[in-house]
Amino acid sequence: MTKILLSYNIDNNSPYYIGTTKPTITPNTQIENGDDYNSYIIEVFNHCGTHVDAPRHFISGAKEISKYDIGELSFDNPLIIECKKSPGKLITVKDIETTDLTGFDCILFRTGLEKYREENLNMYLTQNPGVSPETIHWIRKNHQNIKCIGIDCISMARYDDAEIAKKTHITAFKIDESYGEPLLFIEDMKLEEVGSDQTINNLIIVPWQIKGIDSAPCTVIADLE
Ligand SMILES: [Zn+2]
Repeated sequence: MTKILLSYNIDNNSPYYIGTTKPTITPNTQIENGDDYNSYIIEVFNHCGTHVDAPRHFISGAKEISKYDIGELSFDNPLIIECKKSPGKLITVKDIETTDLTGFDCILFRTGLEKYREENLNMYLTQNPGVSPETIHWIRKNHQNIKCIGIDCISMARYDDAEIAKKTHITAFKIDESYGEPLLFIEDMKLEEVGSDQTINNLIIVPWQIKGIDSAPCTVIADLE
C-alpha cells in the first residue's frame, strides 16, 4: 500500500477561478533580511487550489465545512471513473449509468483536463467539462451510499454557465426526502498519479480547520493498492 496526495500545493501561481481572488503568499519576517526567523502572510480565497465544497457554499444556513467530523470526511470505498470529455462538455447520466456503483462511497471523475493545469492554464480555467445537474440528481436518487464527488477540474460545473453551475451545486447540497445525505464536492484534484491499474483503498479529506466558512482548501490523502 502506498500513500499519496490527491491535492495540490498552493502557491502564488495556483490556478484560481476567473473573477475570484489570486492567492498571495508574502514573505513577512525573513532571516535573509536580518530578521530572527522566517514567517509568511497567506491570503487565499477559500475555493482556491484543491478544496472541498460543503452545502453552505450554495445554501444559506446549510452545513459548513468545519462542522464535518473526520469520520464524515473519510471514505473506505472510493472509485475513479475515467470520463474523458471534450472541453466544455457535460458529464451526463449516460456516461456513468453503465458503471456498477454499488458499495462505493466516493467517486472521482478523471476527465483528463488536469494535463492542461500546467501547460495551458487558460484551457484549464475555461474549457473544463462539468457535471450536469441531472447526473447529480441521478446519483443522489440511486446511489445514496455516495457521499462525495471529486473532479480533476477547477470546478464541478463548466465555465461561464452560471445557471447550470448553480443547479449542479444546489442539487448536490439540498436536503430532499428522496435523497440521502448532501454530497461534498472536491474540486481541482490531482488524480494523474493514480495508475489506471491501481485502486484507492481509502481516501481522507483534511480541510483547513477554519470556523465560519462554507468550504475550505484541503489536503486529500489516499491509500493505493
Ligand atoms: Zn468550490
